[in-house]
Amino acid sequence: SLAPLGSSVIPIVNKLQDIFAQLGSQSTIELPQVAVVGSQSSGKSSVLESLVGRDFLPRGSDICTRRPLVLQLLQTKRKPDGSEEEYGEFLHLPGKRFYDFSEIRREIQAETDREAGGNKGVSDKQIRLKIFSPNVLDITLVDLPGITKVPVGDQPSDIEARIRTMIMSYIKQPSCLILAVTPANSDLANSDALQLAGNADPDGCRTIGIITKLDIMDRGTDARNLLLGKVIPLRLGYIGVVNRSQEDILMNRSIKDALVAEEKFFRNRPVYNGLADRCGVPQLAKKLNQILVQHIKAILPGLKSRISSSLVSLAKEHASYGEITESKAGQGALLLNILSKYCEAFSSIVEGKNEEMSTA
Ligand code: GDP
Ligand code: MG
Repeated sequence: SLAPLGSSVIPIVNKLQDIFAQLGSQSTIELPQVAVVGSQSSGKSSVLESLVGRDFLPRGSDICTRRPLVLQLLQTKRKPDGSEEEYGEFLHLPGKRFYDFSEIRREIQAETDREAGGNKGVSDKQIRLKIFSPNVLDITLVDLPGITKVPVGDQPSDIEARIRTMIMSYIKQPSCLILAVTPANSDLANSDALQLAGNADPDGCRTIGIITKLDIMDRGTDARNLLLGKVIPLRLGYIGVVNRSQEDILMNRSIKDALVAEEKFFRNRPVYNGLADRCGVPQLAKKLNQILVQHIKAILPGLKSRISSSLVSLAKEHASYGEITESKAGQGALLLNILSKYCEAFSSIVEGKNEEMSTA
């Protein structure tokens, strides 16, 4: 089955939020933002789209992403009859729900033209899109224009510097996870993605390397050493992917078919044997999920102490009334108990024991 971003984290986040809701507190789990960086046409939009599992981003061999797209995924409750409803809403068109995802793509294109003109212009003014779905977790993904060196169309002469500054303003934030995208058919040592990510995150603690276009490498070459980190080491490592080609886009090939083709690609190439955990979009989703779970683990003690202190003040309040009810204290203990159990569940997920993350 598809293993899009968040599939293994959603149940945990939901249960935690249920617990907090019982305590009357607001949603407390803020997940980091994820941004893609790299050269133009390296495959950034394609990677994001596969992670979300829906077709809605402008992609292509020319410059497509010309404004930052801030994509907020927001989880909605499934309807009582079990049916699900997924739709998008733009900040610039409040109240208008887009149920057709190809219409979302057309609106992104139209809104890009409105601000940046129809002739390849680039603008740092964001497009903000919310996607509501029961199948996502509350996370923000940012699709960014890629680095280009030579001005074309209406682009100013300092286009490269402008795009670099725009990208840095997103990825320098310490809470931003960076997907640094480099195509396999270019030299990693020339990678704009790794250069930018290296500047924003010198320790490499929030950068994942992504190698795209493994299917169109020069004959006789492969990405094995790249993926093993033998060319340029990266703390969180690399994932190699095969996205849809321009021909696939023209033929309207679905994400689902593309994932099947990707799986087959890796299966049929002995050189990638033994690298299964570094190959394919589902592995990227798994890696991101693990990082998100680590993040939740890291913020849990703070949440736990907040609950404890609210329990203490509750007990005090009751004491001030002259009677401490057993049941309240019992309820509090129960909730803390549940919370500790989730801590344990997180540990086992981080250690990779979670079934839902299998990519079969
Ligand atoms: P971006 O400019 O970095 O956002 O790149 P896009 O996602 O728009 O992709 C640029 C072009 O490269 C499109 O024509 C894609 O179809 C193509 N492309 C992206 N990833 C791959 C891949 O893994 N294999 C092949 N063959 N083409 C790809
Ligand atoms: Mg793009």
